[in-house]
Amino acid sequence: MTASRRTWITLSLATIVAVTVTGTVGAAATASTATGPPVLVKQSTAVGSGGAVASDDVQATQAGIEVLKHGGNAVDAAVAVAATLGVTDPFVAGIGGGGFLVYYNARTHRVYTIDGRETTPQSAGPNLFIDPATGKPLSFPTAVTSGLSVGVPGNLMTWQQALRNFGTISLAAALRPAERVARQGFPVDAEFREMVRENAFRFDQFSSTSALFLPGGQLPVVGATFRNPDLAATYAEISQKGVKDFYGGPLGAAIVNTVHNLPLVPGATLVPRPGFMQLPDLAAYTSPLRAPTHVTYHGLDVYGMGPPSSGGITVGESLNILSNFNLRDMSTVQALHHYLEATRLAFADRNRYIGDSSFVNVPEQQLLSPAFGRQRACLINPAKAATSPVPPGDPSAGSGGCVPLQPAETGQPSDGASTNNLVVEDRWGDVVSYTNTIEELGGAGIVVPGRGFLLNNELTDFDFVPLQAGVPDPNLPAAGKRPRSSMAPTIVLRDGRPFLSVGSPGGASIITTVLQILLNRLDFGMTLPQAIAAPRASQRNSTTTQAEPDFISLPSTPGLQALGQSFAISDTSPLNPSIIISPLIGAANGLEFLGQDRVLVAAEPVRRDGGSAAVVRPDP
Ligand code: GLU
Repeated sequence: MTASRRTWITLSLATIVAVTVTGTVGAAATASTATGPPVLVKQSTAVGSGGAVASDDVQATQAGIEVLKHGGNAVDAAVAVAATLGVTDPFVAGIGGGGFLVYYNARTHRVYTIDGRETTPQSAGPNLFIDPATGKPLSFPTAVTSGLSVGVPGNLMTWQQALRNFGTISLAAALRPAERVARQGFPVDAEFREMVRENAFRFDQFSSTSALFLPGGQLPVVGATFRNPDLAATYAEISQKGVKDFYGGPLGAAIVNTVHNLPLVPGATLVPRPGFMQLPDLAAYTSPLRAPTHVTYHGLDVYGMGPPSSGGITVGESLNILSNFNLRDMSTVQALHHYLEATRLAFADRNRYIGDSSFVNVPEQQLLSPAFGRQRACLINPAKAATSPVPPGDPSAGSGGCVPLQPAETGQPSDGASTNNLVVEDRWGDVVSYTNTIEELGGAGIVVPGRGFLLNNELTDFDFVPLQAGVPDPNLPAAGKRPRSSMAPTIVLRDGRPFLSVGSPGGASIITTVLQILLNRLDFGMTLPQAIAAPRASQRNSTTTQAEPDFISLPSTPGLQALGQSFAISDTSPLNPSIIISPLIGAANGLEFLGQDRVLVAAEPVRRDGGSAAVVRPDP
């Protein structure tokens, strides 16, 4: 617990007993208030056995620990954590959104994945984001805050699918802790308030959203208790009626009504466009099990999420490229230069070849082949950064010749920027890494009236128009299609047994964040908490690399600049450039097996106000 965190707790909650946590402990410590719900104290790392959880939020982590303590497995706990995040982190999680779950089953020794990505309504098509009045694409902010951007949500079906296939408890049991937190409330933290501040200019346009998050036009007060009785009732209703309530029943009808009849306040200044979703779109939704992506790196087996996410393939291709070098023996400048060049190349391939594989032919095996890694690796010049945008490679050409790079003309996809990742491990050694989101921070900005949750804007992850004229774009909108994601929940096995698991938010920077953490841990000698905390840079085939201020201050950065790498921090809202936002990249959570049933679980320590890690039985 940092000094500032301690200060916040003691100052803002005068009635609580101040709790100081030193070292690593297990389940979150609690302190009591005179009137409000219990206050949990979080820490960013824990070591022990019996099961482990890391998530963005202490209530959510605690919900998972309770499920594990009562005999639940990793999947049971993951659903409880995700549902609770829908309450405590409603701007990045919840049943209004979707995500991808990667799962290692200790009994079968296999990795499974669940695709809970949102889908495009059947009555929408390629012109989803084209303004009929002008024939031109809508601006990104106009598209985000609208009914048009709302995809058929996948998280609830993912929870059902995960529990049915791999869990031991009912959906109702898994929702219970979340329902309780929604009803009892939880203390508003600085991050919660910040999310509302960044979105107030659009939340105040919708009566349902402003009533929930801006009551009386005021931002939530840090330390005050936030309750969401509507969401508690929604969870209770789902528990009673099952997911069909959402996927085709009355709750689904409420979503459809909201998307068509946007709940605008009287005198709203925004004129958001309604969407296309109909009840049959919800009734037809599925969250299929899919094969994971797989590559080897340093003899480890790295599993990730395949299409419609580009996460697993792009992390995997980058690792294949870097397998051609020995980062461990390089100077820091050279190792980071190779990291940046590898993702520059891999993003060119991602943008050209990856989309929803039910609609486009994604050459997954070719992109993940060591031969293609060699084709791309030989283009890295140790003395000079390539000029972006670089063109994609030819996955059908194997290792091919080393064709010099010619600058390409291509646009940049506008991937939005936030979600959450949770990791869970249980006493049997099962592991879940689950990244889920409502897309932008605050999603479409629209709360379903009386239901207590925000709707996603996931469809803005599509390219609105082809990135390059005359070149096929795998990520254009189509009816029933899932937009390409960057989410990259990852599980690494060593000798067939789980070793590491990690995942992060951050839009397209998820891919570079997950890769950078793996390299920090596997090549650069960092511990997992250090790997998660280290400053980040994200090169995605653009002329400048997005970087955190602390990365720009590193002693290695002038050396990188001398090689032609250039860096810029990104600190304005993509929805409203007058709003300053955090320039930090991602907020990862991960875990590592230490042997003899012991696990180190590590949450983000600082970014987004820090996450929460806990184990069932802490080391003495
Ligand atoms: N919509 C993003 C994606 O699927 C995830 C949200 C985020 O972290 O930005 O890649």
